[in-house]
Amino acid sequence: MDNHETSDFSRMQDLAVEDDGFEYSLRPETLREFIGQERAKEQLRIHIEAAKRRGHALEHVLLVSPPGLGKTTLAKIIANEIGSNFKQAIGPVMERLDLASTLTNLEQSDILFIDEIHQMKGYVQESLYPAMEDYQLDLAIGQGAASDVVQISLKHFTLVGATTREGLLAGPFRDRFGIRIHLDYYEVADIQQAIRINSAKLNINIDKDAEFALARRARGTMRIANKLLANVRDYAEVKGSGVLTLDIVEEALEFFRIDERGFNTQDYAYFRMLIEKFNGRAGVKALAVALSEDERTISEVYEPYYIKEGFLMLTPGGRVATDAAYEYFNYPIGSQTSLFY
Ligand code: ADP
Repeated sequence: MDNHETSDFSRMQDLAVEDDGFEYSLRPETLREFIGQERAKEQLRIHIEAAKRRGHALEHVLLVSPPGLGKTTLAKIIANEIGSNFKQAIGPVMERLDLASTLTNLEQSDILFIDEIHQMKGYVQESLYPAMEDYQLDLAIGQGAASDVVQISLKHFTLVGATTREGLLAGPFRDRFGIRIHLDYYEVADIQQAIRINSAKLNINIDKDAEFALARRARGTMRIANKLLANVRDYAEVKGSGVLTLDIVEEALEFFRIDERGFNTQDYAYFRMLIEKFNGRAGVKALAVALSEDERTISEVYEPYYIKEGFLMLTPGGRVATDAAYEYFNYPIGSQTSLFY
């Protein structure tokens, strides 16, 4: 693959990265403002209400979804709805000591949100077990024969873990979450509603057709909808009058090379590689090397949507491009001829 494609692939990865300022201003703060995911919201409403009535901390919550669907947002909402503090940690970089100092500083009913919890080191996970179950922390003091274990009592906090890969959590760890919530990709109508609300918050003048055109390309993902809105707004301000009409939105999407399904050059590069180089079947490692992309980004960020769209199957023999993918990306089924733009 040439450099142009490599940089496109990385550029799209940037789009998946959180832009704190922009996202911060758009984050819903209550369950009522959180769009869609009705079942998840109802489940949370019930558990929060029950915990409040009993005056107990909410049970530990596991939030599962592909990136950008609202796990962090929901964790913050849980803290808001309960009226407790929100503390955040990132799973993979956490060590036992970080965990110990975080846990000992929590107040009753505080929310400790740990993102990417499936990437937490095994021994750190294990030291969470007694904290989750009995609100006890076993702290090893000293080394070798002189070492001792001190037990510290913790306040009754709630752990909210977020993961894109529930299957990678150790069984005993997963079982310690009393509440497990799965978020699904959003319907176009939900995304359109978010675009309408966020446009109003950002003072963007957008018409209905333009909202719909953007919503259709957001890949069922709120974070992508927000990014598209921001990018298209920039384009319209510089190239147009600033008003988001269907015409200017379509022109902008064309400029950013986002097709009618929300596929970008990175997706085209992925399928071109899979179909042309690997004849429609490849392992994720080989794909990652060929695309100069991180394996985890491919399997956790990009592929879930391809699978949902019916373009990709995960088989014991590797990733397989479906007939729908051949058709959509203009390959005669089973052929290696490229008709890509
Ligand atoms: P995750 O933690 O799953 O990667 P986030 O919670 O960071 O996703 O959500 C990404 C962005 O999408 C947030 O900034 C938020 O503004 C927006 N968002 C997510 N879910 C919703 C929703 N249901 N309604 C409105 N906006 C949402």
